[in-house]
Amino acid sequence: MKKLFCLLSMMTAIWIVASGCTQTEQGVVGGAAAGGAIGGIIGHQSGETGAGAAIGAAGGAVLGGLIGHSQEHKADAHSSHIQPCPNGHEVDVTGYGPGALVRCPIDNSTFTVQ
Ligand SMILES: [Zn+2]
Repeated sequence: MKKLFCLLSMMTAIWIVASGCTQTEQGVVGGAAAGGAIGGIIGHQSGETGAGAAIGAAGGAVLGGLIGHSQEHKADAHSSHIQPCPNGHEVDVTGYGPGALVRCPIDNSTFTVQ
């Protein structure tokens, strides 16, 4: 059990170091940490803590990377809700669907969201 606690504190340290990275990198590290911890617990019960942790970390890293990557794509889609008004001002059209009429806050011109 002491070994497992050591593993968990190590994973937590990696998680803190990685918190400044992109969401994909965070996902990989977070997934590896979670997978390693779960794998360690499963491995511990079957008498192979090290192997369980390694397998769990590898699987968790792949899964976490995929999750983190898809989150990044969602963020991209969200930040691209900027559209130019007829006079070229960049207007945030977040929350407006295609065809909605939006007013430019700078020159009060109206345009439809594409
Ligand atoms: Zn404008």
